[in-house]
Amino acid sequence: MVRADNVHKSFGSLEVLKGVDLVVNAGEVCCVLGPSGSGKSTFLRCVNHLEKINAGKIFVDGDLVGYHERGGKLHEMKGKDVARQRRSIGMVFQRFNLFPHMTSLQNVMEAPCRVKKESKAEVRERAASLLERVGLGSKIDAYPGMLSGGQQQRVAIARALAMRPKLMLFDEPTSALDPELVGEVLDVMKDLARDGMTMVVVTHEIGFAREVGDQVVFMDGGVVVEKGSPAEILANPKHERTQAFLSKVL
Ligand code: ATP
Ligand code: MG
Repeated sequence: MVRADNVHKSFGSLEVLKGVDLVVNAGEVCCVLGPSGSGKSTFLRCVNHLEKINAGKIFVDGDLVGYHERGGKLHEMKGKDVARQRRSIGMVFQRFNLFPHMTSLQNVMEAPCRVKKESKAEVRERAASLLERVGLGSKIDAYPGMLSGGQQQRVAIARALAMRPKLMLFDEPTSALDPELVGEVLDVMKDLARDGMTMVVVTHEIGFAREVGDQVVFMDGGVVVEKGSPAEILANPKHERTQAFLSKVL
């Protein structure tokens, strides 16, 4: 579902991604760990072309992200093609970024209504059932300001799912939450994983990675230092840098 080949990304003279390789198969959950500044968020942003990469290629469901390839040359995609591609990828951030003047239901309906392929009634029905699914059936008319952080993050997940993505990207979805609210968001993510959603999850929740991850990736200094099953990476890391990182977070 996701393939990254030798992805490089710089901001000016700062080289942040120095050749990232990664494969995530359909239905897999890939958990990405790594110290602050290692390039985890940048990599996720490259996957849905919020950032342009400087070299390498990223494929999502077989499609080259952000570029058309013609005659061996890469041509940058037009905005509407990028938007079309991005619609199949859901993203959830650390900060929930809900529209404050819209109810939960309106937040979840916003993107599919904007795309306008379906009737409002269909979108409304799907949005309500997604909110039900994340445990917020009773909060469809609540505004974000009336919801806890964990509830807001669950609305954000429902909102991402409303576009029926093939792939979900999570960037530290629980790290802005009070500890007692983390579990309810992780439970929704576990449920999604059980349902077969392909997910790339940047997280410091080692328990989640151990329990739900099919693959754990350790990034440091803009490269994938080590990847493997949770048992391999979390219990028996081979690289010194992985060992040092885990000894701090475990
Ligand atoms: P954290 O765990 O703190 O979220 P991270 O692994 O997600 O860290 P990134 O946010 O990807 O790290 O940042 C990697 C490096 O790229 C950092 O040095 C950061 O300052 C730099 N960086 C990220 N975005 C930009 C930008 N838009 N312009 C310039 N530098 C950037
Ligand atoms: Mg980050």
